[in-house]
Amino acid sequence: MKDNAILEYDRTFVWHPYASLTNPPPVRLAKSANGVEITLADGSRLIDAVASWWSVAHGHNHPKIVEAMRKQGERLSHVMFGGFTHEGAVTLAEKLAAIAPDGLNKVFLADSGSIAVEVAVKMCLQYQNAKGRKQRTKMLALKGGYHGDTACAMALSDPDGMHTLFAGMMPKHFFAEKFSAKFDIEELVMFAETLEKHRDEIAGVICEPVFQAANAMWFYSPVYLTYMKSMCAAADIPLVFDEIAAGFHRTGPLWAHRAAKVTPDIMCVGKALTGGHCTLAATIASEDVARTISEGTPSAFMHGPTFMANPIACAAANASLELFAEGDYEAKANGIEKILAERLPPLKALANVKDVRVKGAVGIVEVERMPRVDDIERVIRDNGVWLRPFCNYIYTMPPLVADARAVEKISSAIADLASAPPGDEIADGDFHE
Ligand SMILES: *Cc1c(COP(=O)(O)O)cnc(C)c1O
Repeated sequence: MKDNAILEYDRTFVWHPYASLTNPPPVRLAKSANGVEITLADGSRLIDAVASWWSVAHGHNHPKIVEAMRKQGERLSHVMFGGFTHEGAVTLAEKLAAIAPDGLNKVFLADSGSIAVEVAVKMCLQYQNAKGRKQRTKMLALKGGYHGDTACAMALSDPDGMHTLFAGMMPKHFFAEKFSAKFDIEELVMFAETLEKHRDEIAGVICEPVFQAANAMWFYSPVYLTYMKSMCAAADIPLVFDEIAAGFHRTGPLWAHRAAKVTPDIMCVGKALTGGHCTLAATIASEDVARTISEGTPSAFMHGPTFMANPIACAAANASLELFAEGDYEAKANGIEKILAERLPPLKALANVKDVRVKGAVGIVEVERMPRVDDIERVIRDNGVWLRPFCNYIYTMPPLVADARAVEKISSAIADLASAPPGDEIADGDFHE
């Protein structure tokens, strides 16, 4: 198909994420990608400052991952996981158990981050059910959070965020106020009160540890997590850490919650798990959660997607985990942080800039008003940097292998966009990540 025809058909037939078909936002035609760059149809290249939604940790088309996928595809591209197992899945579970926090070693492989969250919620419910507490069917989550786009995951995301349209069809859960960057005992007391008030209805507690990504683009003190854990333990409520965005060194340490020196009862990982080469996520449960569920009625854990533990995805994840193990990714994230922490905070002097936040390989410039779509397009083109600002956030979460030159270029592009005149209103389709 000719490039023009591809774009034409795209506008006619294809939904894009959070986009209208009658008034579609601009899309670029990607032809190939390598390292931190995506090559477009006209031969120009863009540095992927978003790591393709934070997943491409080792760079695009990493030869080791591509080769692992190719080899696996030739041998066994898929087999149902009900009644079968295969080496890639077992190796992956073993690797995940080895790097997961202490005591978490029962691995459920899910098809995407949202599904991993749904699985975690079902584990909480079955855990309580097995203990005879059938009225514990709700979750307690944090305002400002994001846990995915499927119905159950939406219902756990910020209740005033981008999913309000669907409020009528979503289950109602409990929410505690968003935590502050500096530990505030009052906020913890409020959390404790909510937990205490509804403890007989709460099956589990879920949060994005330290870094609330897709909704609030916000970092909060890890001290809260330490207390949450002891409160949850006292109430016999499993604590779920959704590390899908923050995990795999995005904020520096392998897991963002390491800053708090606590372990959750269940952890979700996704995004960078395969190094962003294909979709795969995992929900990792503690021995206690797994045993309790298995002693209940039914003793089976009730979830099983068609493409569970797809061998090609497992091969990609195994290769990605080997890359993480071979390199010092914490140092890479800290190196990116150093440049962002130099380059972004001075932007606070700009009239349209409200706040700047940097941690690990995350740089966020919060603006009063997002510049117009035309200006965003110009900045992307002029700088050769792919930015995907949303709501009031101009941000980067680059591939962790981005070198100093790439991070400098990204910082310049962000500065360019933050200096552009503010637009009139939030454009259609600008809502999501
Ligand atoms: C992206 C994300 C999800 C959803 O993952 P998908 O693969 O898009 O379904 C869930 N939780 C967090 C914290 C995320 O950032």
